Amino acid sequence: MSYNLDFTDEEFSNIVLKNENNEVHVRTNAFDDNEAWRWKEVFTKKNNISFNVQKLSKSVSSTFHEKFICIFGDKHHKGVRQIYTGCGVKMDIKIKLITKATCNKDKDVRAHPCTVIIEGVHNHHTESASALHQLPETRDALFQNFDLGCW
Ligand SMILES: [Zn+2]
Repeated sequence: MSYNLDFTDEEFSNIVLKNENNEVHVRTNAFDDNEAWRWKEVFTKKNNISFNVQKLSKSVSSTFHEKFICIFGDKHHKGVRQIYTGCGVKMDIKIKLITKATCNKDKDVRAHPCTVIIEGVHNHHTESASALHQLPETRDALFQNFDLGCW
């Protein structure tokens, strides 16, 4: 699979450095926390795949740095019994500080200070618009008799 990384209609300009099956590197023009979170929302909307915060991290070398895990791999996600597949796909979003030093090292930092790295291959459906409500194939049988009215 590959991700939809054309966010121009959402006013993000993504530089896609790598868009391979198990590894994605993107630079984008998110300059602060709000824009980084919004980038993640746009990603979710365009790719029908959600990531939850894995752990909050603080870094002095960046203004924003969060690690996320696919919602299907998050044991703590509400409703986990329905959707947990042990998916190991991770997303790492970091906004670099724009300084003389970082600009010298990295010519893209001024216009595209935010880097997004996604690693891993989803072990469940991601194509459908209702992917989040779709049960993994292997679990269909298990849950088909349950009342799904609570979805
Ligand atoms: Zn996944």
